[in-house]
Amino acid sequence: MAHGTYILILHLPEAQRLEIGKFGMVALSAGYYAYVGSAFGSGGLSGRLRHHRHVAEKPHWHVDYLRRAARLTAIWMQESEIRREHEWAAILGNMPGVAIPAARFGASDCRCPAHLFYFGDMPPLLEIFQETVRRHFPNDTAISTSPPSPLSASERGETKHAFYR
Ligand SMILES: [Zn+2]
Repeated sequence: MAHGTYILILHLPEAQRLEIGKFGMVALSAGYYAYVGSAFGSGGLSGRLRHHRHVAEKPHWHVDYLRRAARLTAIWMQESEIRREHEWAAILGNMPGVAIPAARFGASDCRCPAHLFYFGDMPPLLEIFQETVRRHFPNDTAISTSPPSPLSASERGETKHAFYR
């Protein structure tokens, strides 16, 4: 089972207050979110992504609660034995126009400000992200995406993409 790090690109169609388990109530604006996680357990990366493609009946991670209200529009992933979730969270947090919607969301077990980032109307830009990761970690495995053609800036506002449900 390949392990690795991933980012879920989620779109919340309208602003809402969500109950995130023990984390509590969170008020979220409409727009795009990026959540970063990693899978180093027995199910590997594919098992974890299978979990995220569906709405969890019994939410476990913070993002499972958000997933109930949001559409999964893309997945970025890296198969690797090196866990990169915290470094990727730092890179996402430094991307232009990004905000942290809820401090410590998805980051109960680490020291990151959060593992969830808000991009407003703009889908997170894969090219900028990949370039930054390559600069920091030139020897890392390349990042792949699913669906293969992720949202780009020129596609913002369009809804012709395949959404997972
Ligand atoms: Zn972290």
